[in-house]
Amino acid sequence: MTYTLAIHGGAGVIQTGGDEQPYHQGLRQALEVGQVILKEGGTAIDAVVAAVETLENHPLFNAGHGAVFTADESHELDAGAMDGSDLSAGAVAGARHIKNPVRAAHALLKDQRYVLLCGAGADQFALEAGLPQVSNNYFSTLHRLQQLQTLRASDPSQVALDHSVATIGTSKADNEKKFGTVGAVALDQHGHLAAATSTGGMTNKRPGRIGDTPLIGAGVYANDASCAVSATGTGEHFIRACVGHDIHARMVYGKQSLSQAANATVFENLSALGGEGGCITVGRDGSIAMPFNSRGMYRGWVTQDGEIETRIFSD
Ligand code: ASP
Repeated sequence: MTYTLAIHGGAGVIQTGGDEQPYHQGLRQALEVGQVILKEGGTAIDAVVAAVETLENHPLFNAGHGAVFTADESHELDAGAMDGSDLSAGAVAGARHIKNPVRAAHALLKDQRYVLLCGAGADQFALEAGLPQVSNNYFSTLHRLQQLQTLRASDPSQVALDHSVATIGTSKADNEKKFGTVGAVALDQHGHLAAATSTGGMTNKRPGRIGDTPLIGAGVYANDASCAVSATGTGEHFIRACVGHDIHARMVYGKQSLSQAANATVFENLSALGGEGGCITVGRDGSIAMPFNSRGMYRGWVTQDGEIETRIFSD
């Protein structure tokens, strides 16, 4: 059996200020962490959770440390995980004190009693599960605060998805086209699929707003019968298009290939709603499709036979 791991660090207009190396390095680091698990015969779910945790800890990506600010200058984090072998799933929304929200999602997945916990209840569950807790300002970085202030100065009501300091000062239209969620999908050597996604959401988002990331079937989905999906983009559209489950359904009921299904969901359904962003997907044969209708998507992949590859723009 072979293995495949793919990850993303968000999609959008993407302006790196000319220095793309830190993003490539961050993606590579996460791929290496996940690859070790898969290479040694570990499970897809363990690999995607470990890869996403690595991206959560990286300040350049909008998840965990480095998450964007809400309108009340704090952080509310969403994460979800799904194991395609038994369709177990776990997710947290609006968490404020869990150092690595994807770990809490994974703990819920294993616990099996609940799929989605929000707010203080999610924080309390993680505490009881023995996961590291942090004060809310652990997630803050100067660059995210500047982003919030810049956004408010231009339009206090604006809500933006954004993950690059180089984007500060760009137009309102551009600011609305940057998405910094992180995610991973994998096929392990036992033939099982899994997906995980984590985000800080949108800069200046209204407290209590929940995007697609923790919603099973929207921003995250995995099923051994078809594929594993992790999405990034305008969350409200991804929820309405049921992106993750739509790709699965096209493959199972419509007999479409992975790339046909993923492309149709992103370029037809999502685009028709006005949604922007993309997703990473891996099929049960280890194939990969990563469609996005934005200018770029931070992404990378590795297979048993290949080198680690990372990309930002379409090519
Ligand atoms: N999809 C995420 C959300 O709407 C944002 C992102 O992908 O960056 O919360």
